[in-house]
Amino acid sequence: MTTCTGCSLLCEDIELVLKTGAISEARNLCRKGQGHYQALFTQRTKPMIEGKEVTLDQAILKAAEILKNAKSPLLYGWSNSTLEAQTVGINLARKIGATIDDTSSFCQGILMERILTGRIPTCTLDDVRNFADTSLFWGADPSNSHPRHLSRFSYYPRGEKRQKSYEEERTCVVVDVRKSPTAHLCSNYYFRVAPGGDDQFMEAMLAVLDGKIPKYGDKKRMIELGTVLKKTEFGVIFPGLGMVYSLQDKMDLFEELVTRLNEITTFKVVPMVGHYNMRGFNQLLLDQTGFINSVSFQKGAGAGATPAHGPEQSVVGAAKTSDAALVIGSDPLSALPFGTARALAGIPLIAIDPRRSLTTDAAQVVIPSAISGLEAGGTALRMDGVRISFEPLVESDNLSDEQILTRILEAV
Ligand code: SF4
Repeated sequence: MTTCTGCSLLCEDIELVLKTGAISEARNLCRKGQGHYQALFTQRTKPMIEGKEVTLDQAILKAAEILKNAKSPLLYGWSNSTLEAQTVGINLARKIGATIDDTSSFCQGILMERILTGRIPTCTLDDVRNFADTSLFWGADPSNSHPRHLSRFSYYPRGEKRQKSYEEERTCVVVDVRKSPTAHLCSNYYFRVAPGGDDQFMEAMLAVLDGKIPKYGDKKRMIELGTVLKKTEFGVIFPGLGMVYSLQDKMDLFEELVTRLNEITTFKVVPMVGHYNMRGFNQLLLDQTGFINSVSFQKGAGAGATPAHGPEQSVVGAAKTSDAALVIGSDPLSALPFGTARALAGIPLIAIDPRRSLTTDAAQVVIPSAISGLEAGGTALRMDGVRISFEPLVESDNLSDEQILTRILEAV
């Protein structure tokens, strides 16, 4: 039995039989997880400096040299690393006076901060399975992004208080700009919003909950939605990137909606985090600095010093001012806006990754790592904050992220 790190559900019930170069048998693995594990056999990285293969020791020493000589280094990625590796990464940032940031600064961070600081109520996925009678997916399509979400937790399973499950006791609502595969499954309560119209939809929901006629959308359908929500005993909203990107700086409106729902009944929020341990990084950094991401440590300021935090310390801001970057388990050159990717490509770049990507191909130093959950053990926080530990399934010659970072930390 192994744990899949293909998404933030961290399914712990995966059974695999591996034969040379392929997965020959798998139980409980979804198609996304299948792709995640299959990548074990393809496009693996090798230790490289300036495009030439070197020994691992040489790559690690070169990485340490670059970071040591940099005046304002950036350490970025982290959402695909274990808690143990993230801890060493934060220590490294402190030691070298670096800026540290993860993928949440341009995706779910704005919502995650409100969850982790208690402004928005949350619950575990086990609570969802046992008690939830309404699951509202907002700008999220778990059928594609988290393929076992509905079957393990939110719609199909028979929970402690939900033995009749989706046939009689669970309602699934989808609010999205398109009729996604999840919206097809929940088609009775699919509500289409115009791109960027989520705030208007929320205002209409607030109006309905206050007994007023909504000004947005199909009035009858909005009133029908209001009735479903009011009748709910234990509801959970699962916001995806669609909602977060659409709302941007209007997240207060979502908080107001959740507060209003909780004046009527019980509603919790669990963000649909993509990467397997984004939440872990956010929690660790929050515990140590008071901020969930985008933090800059001043060189030699000591453990008690308050770090700088703000847009300039996010990857988008820091890429323009940093003179070296270490990227771990992430491919910012593919995923980030062109200006940020170009800025990163223009400075000495160190990439720690088990697989090749545009970022590893452009990096000055590449350090191959073991794949967490398959070749390396550790712990991570599931999307709902539950701590999951996992052991390696197979032996690997590659070091784990934690081991690589520890060696860099010792060498700087
Ligand atoms: S749902 Fe996510 S964690 Fe579970 S098997 Fe699929 S990819 Fe892996």
